[in-house]
Amino acid sequence: MNYTEIMSYVFTILFRVFGFLLVLVVYILIAFVGWVYFKTILPSKFHQNPFLLVFEVAFFIWILTAIIITFTKSAFVRGGAVPYDLLENEEKNEISKEKVNTDPITTIINQDNLELPSLSNYTWCSHCNKVKPPRCHHDSITHQCVLRMDHFCPWLNNTIGYFNHKFFILFLIYLFLGCSYLAIITLKPFLIDLNIVSEDNDVDGTLVIVFIISISSLAGVGFLSVWQLYLLFTNQTTIEFYINHTLKSIAKQRGIKFRNIFNIGKKENFKQFFDLHDKYWFAFLWSFGKKEGDGLHFPTIDTEIDLPIISFEEDNLNI
Ligand SMILES: [Zn+2]
Repeated sequence: MNYTEIMSYVFTILFRVFGFLLVLVVYILIAFVGWVYFKTILPSKFHQNPFLLVFEVAFFIWILTAIIITFTKSAFVRGGAVPYDLLENEEKNEISKEKVNTDPITTIINQDNLELPSLSNYTWCSHCNKVKPPRCHHDSITHQCVLRMDHFCPWLNNTIGYFNHKFFILFLIYLFLGCSYLAIITLKPFLIDLNIVSEDNDVDGTLVIVFIISISSLAGVGFLSVWQLYLLFTNQTTIEFYINHTLKSIAKQRGIKFRNIFNIGKKENFKQFFDLHDKYWFAFLWSFGKKEGDGLHFPTIDTEIDLPIISFEEDNLNI
């Protein structure tokens, strides 16, 4: 092991320790907000209409429970380890370092003629020195390939991949709902504390802290939520978005129309992501079960074209 490799591992260990502490911080913040709600906020609402109050409390309990479940699953369910044993058995004769392309994007960029490239579905990871299934990427933090990898999240101390991506997006959605609700109900105490609104009674300081936590979380996850929903509806990961963006530019220069073969339509992408099948669309809200599928096979818009990342419109190959 050389100096660079040692430094890389030291950095990884420090990063993981930091990530572990961040996960702890999130649990402490969730516990604190729950405690303030039941100790201070709820008693202050006892004068309200009882039916509305029951509805409001049930809503909060549901959101809080969902946040805890989805955060825990996002942090502790692995993104997707590559089942090398399975691959060896299934694809024994198909996969070898010599046979697969190093990287589909490199292959396409280097390609001079514009006939459809006959890419294998599998590529080779030079870091792991093992075969890499389609949509799988090498994670330099955990030093392994992750199925349908999206990104490594320090707040979760985990890599988001095929098996935990839906928990991650559900976590963002519930966090957005929960923080919006808390920010609205603690806005007045916050304004009183700043002397913007006057009131005779003193404000409980914990309400001000809850407001600050909620607003900070909303600011932090707002853009990320929109971005992740865009990726969900277009059936891309963050990594694939950048690859597709590059390929799109190359295709445009060559007068070719680009398409992402995994994008099978907004509705189908949504159903596939949350394993909905014939269930109602809103069933995604309690899609807390194990992610279905193996992370190796994905439906495509054209199964005859055997490309892992992209495909070109054959009719438009006019250069
Ligand atoms: Zn790898």
